[in-house]
Amino acid sequence: MQEVFQDIDTAKVGMIDELLKESGIPTMLKNFTGGSNITSVPIPSLYPTIFVLDDSQVNEARELIEEFFAAKPVEAAEWNCSHCGESVDGFLSECWSCQHPKES
Ligand SMILES: [Zn+2]
Repeated sequence: MQEVFQDIDTAKVGMIDELLKESGIPTMLKNFTGGSNITSVPIPSLYPTIFVLDDSQVNEARELIEEFFAAKPVEAAEWNCSHCGESVDGFLSECWSCQHPKES
């Protein structure tokens, strides 16, 4: 049995645990209280932790977790201001140059 993931966020640990179980990897949780409560005294050794029961599946589990975090939503594409023609970063909702709002 090996530890593969630990995080203060119970919800995140729960998601990873589900992911591993769905992939056929038996897991065991420690310090997992359910819900989304965050412990008032954040001591790392008491964070919710996922253990993989079968050592031969540890690498597979780690890869799944890595993929899970790598699959972030694609950043919004740049857009061109219809007022002044500047190219604006996708996360901005108005033109950095003339404050003209982004048109959808
Ligand atoms: Zn502009």
